[in-house]
Amino acid sequence: MAVKNKVIIFDTTLRDGEQSPGMSMNLKEKIEMAKQLERLGVDVLEAGFAISSPGDFQSVKTVAGTVKDCTVASLARADKKDIDAAWEAVKGAADPRIHLFIATSSLHMQYKLKMKPDEVLEQAAAMTKYAKKYTPNVQFSAEDSTRSDMDFLAKVVAAVIEAGATTVNLPDTVGYTTPDEHYQFFREIHKRVPALKTVVASAHCHNDLGLAVANSLAAVRGGARQAECTVNGIGERAGNAALEEIAMSLHVRKNYYSVECGVRTTEIVRSSNLLSRITGVKVQPNKAIVGENAFAHEAGIHQHGMMENAETYEIMTPASVGLKESNLVLGKHSGKHAFGERVRLLGYTLTEQEMSEAFKRFKEVADRKKQVYDKDIEAIVAKEQVQVPRTYALDSFVINSGNAITATGVVKLVRDGRLIEKVARGDGPIDAAFKAIGKIIGRPLVLDDYQLDSLSEGKDALGDARVVIKNEAGRLYSGRGLSTDVIEASIKAYINAVNKMYYEEKDGGER
Ligand code: MN
Repeated sequence: MAVKNKVIIFDTTLRDGEQSPGMSMNLKEKIEMAKQLERLGVDVLEAGFAISSPGDFQSVKTVAGTVKDCTVASLARADKKDIDAAWEAVKGAADPRIHLFIATSSLHMQYKLKMKPDEVLEQAAAMTKYAKKYTPNVQFSAEDSTRSDMDFLAKVVAAVIEAGATTVNLPDTVGYTTPDEHYQFFREIHKRVPALKTVVASAHCHNDLGLAVANSLAAVRGGARQAECTVNGIGERAGNAALEEIAMSLHVRKNYYSVECGVRTTEIVRSSNLLSRITGVKVQPNKAIVGENAFAHEAGIHQHGMMENAETYEIMTPASVGLKESNLVLGKHSGKHAFGERVRLLGYTLTEQEMSEAFKRFKEVADRKKQVYDKDIEAIVAKEQVQVPRTYALDSFVINSGNAITATGVVKLVRDGRLIEKVARGDGPIDAAFKAIGKIIGRPLVLDDYQLDSLSEGKDALGDARVVIKNEAGRLYSGRGLSTDVIEASIKAYINAVNKMYYEEKDGGER
């Protein structure tokens, strides 16, 4: 039984978030993210949809065996095979949960499920009972609940509670509802199904109208005690409710909501940054809580007020979300001990092998860049932690380009100890380099996206390149590369994407 004044944070970054375009993560990346979510203090971690692919099954299973401080859930359709697979994947967790769902709106029942309402009702109850055979911790979701007939929905909710569901989730699957309506909806379902008070009611809101967080908070006011959300609000279409916004709303407006929330808010920025680094997708600068400008005060009148008293324009401190000033900490004379100390202070635990690799990289960076900031160190370390085996490694490159010549690139890569060199001409230096790498790989890969940013400020900032490639099967793989030389950063990013592709292909594949 849940503590009734606590809102359970159910994170679905690795499931609803991960299944959205451009957000796919490989096994190593999911584990790294899961460990960070554990540090962040989420209560439930939905690790994936076990039956959807062998890769998903494997990652749910591995995450279940890795995290200890949160419940680990796998999604399943209301179907025996799905539930069997979900249980097989999560049973090794310290606290496993099966999360089954079936749609309850007439639209979904008629066109997607091709089932009559009575059949859906029966299936929902029967499959909840079936899942209960495996574990007492069973969550039922009524997909598209906000567009379902209230009389029918109430019947389903009562039936699954009767069958043993301990959490009942009522998703706004298509992001259709509004805050007032969602509040009423939760009040109404509680009124119609008194037994709902004996279990945990849950909200799962999508952001199609930009209302996901507002709707989730309205649901809490209406009696929901679990909020489903994702870091940075990633997810299908316009995304899910953003975890950091829900957590900070409950924190900053604690007096208003009068509920507890177990999120360690000081881990928010690190969680957001890690996800951006893994997926290569940054949040917009004005994104609430974690955007680059969320705590920036440009206007003079604001700055003046801030200097007198920070509360004039600040409802929460940067430190409360884990935002630290980018301090100048290390340089090229800093030794392994100082580096290791800083890494630990930033909250990372590395194996000895990872530490020496990270230190090597740090030296490379420090050699070219006088001042190494925390941001640089975090990028170096985070990259080290999610490194996949290197099928290809960069040996060297020479690029010749200018506005009066056709760019040419000579790239040498190492594979299995063998040096492979190719030359290519291209439309500019990056194109020439990528074409040369393409010749070495010898597969018809398509460059789907390419971005280049600077990681910190100043003219010696690290170039942070992101490359997305598409393989023959149409699968996307993103890679990142860091260097003070932007061409080198780009080449490294391309090779990183290629290595991830080989890693995932060997691994049985992700979705
Ligand atoms: Mn969803």
